[in-house]
Amino acid sequence: MNVIRTIKLKLNVSSDAGNSLLKTMRDYTVAFNICSTWGFESRSVSKINCHNATYHNVRQSVPDLPSSLVQGARDVACEALKAVKCQFKPLRKEYSAMRYNSRVINVFLTSGYATIATSDGRIKATFGIPEYYRPYLTWKIKSSTISLRKNNSTFYLHCQVETDTPKIAAEQSVLGIDRGIVNIAVCSDNTFFNSRVVKNTRSQYAYLRAQLQSKGTRSAKRKLRKLSGRERRFVADVNHCISKQIVQKPFTIFALENLTKIRVQKRRGTGFNRKLNNWSFYQLEQFIRYKAENLGKQVVSVDARYTSQKCSVCGHVYKGNRNGSSFKCRKCGFEIHADLNASRNIARDGISDLGRSPVNRPIVACL
Ligand SMILES: [Zn+2]
Repeated sequence: MNVIRTIKLKLNVSSDAGNSLLKTMRDYTVAFNICSTWGFESRSVSKINCHNATYHNVRQSVPDLPSSLVQGARDVACEALKAVKCQFKPLRKEYSAMRYNSRVINVFLTSGYATIATSDGRIKATFGIPEYYRPYLTWKIKSSTISLRKNNSTFYLHCQVETDTPKIAAEQSVLGIDRGIVNIAVCSDNTFFNSRVVKNTRSQYAYLRAQLQSKGTRSAKRKLRKLSGRERRFVADVNHCISKQIVQKPFTIFALENLTKIRVQKRRGTGFNRKLNNWSFYQLEQFIRYKAENLGKQVVSVDARYTSQKCSVCGHVYKGNRNGSSFKCRKCGFEIHADLNASRNIARDGISDLGRSPVNRPIVACL
């Protein structure tokens, strides 16, 4: 099973090399647009036909562009046309990102540099590796893209890297995770991730937001945008911390309730809170997934129905079993925190789910 990740590295280049990259981007765009125009006019997404029809013209228009990049631009143009079913002509901006294959770029992740073919010959670029990318240095590079952030003329290298997941330990143990509003996550091993800090911070943001919204001036709108970015990063940070702690627990499989069911449940909440909650639930799941996969562990989704009403000891399902945060089974008298009860049900469903499906079923890698 392969896991694929994309890492984004900031390139350090000399000003000459930077100019060469800019020229290459302009050339690449010319090549792309010739190909997409031909494809659009002849209603064709065939790479071979496009090559035969446009190669001569492209070579004359941008004689310095390395031929691998000519091919790359043509392939990307054909794929773009295919994606829009030739309904309109996809046009590139002058400095859009360029796809590079292994013939035109050599990336040395562990040494921190790359050599890149441009319209002015090969250039060298160096990059620092942030700490959180260290685990990926030994992975195999699948493809690379070079992009430009225009306002500060910084180039970025996006590398798609790939690895086989390590073998999962023979003995499988399942941890159930219940997500909620009061407790962000409750695990079936009795861990609670509730955060008063999160709640306080969120309500501060909500208060500020309401104030700014009632003002409605242009500067208030600008501040709102800033605020939402800051809040998003805060929630992402919390989700990173929680997911990291969860996947490091000594379990090989993590069971989460199916998210679509949560969405239905929480529909009663107020507008923005609801949206943010859904979004942060989803993000927590994404983070748990990719961090678990990196460790060769697995994540399964289970049906969320009845997880909060069912007794995790005797299996009795009754709505009145749950009262707010406390759970008391009307049949066997078992008492427990309601979210913990739910997480144990999720763990159990995760185990029975495994029994029905092949153990090493593929998990879709998230990019
Ligand atoms: Zn019971």
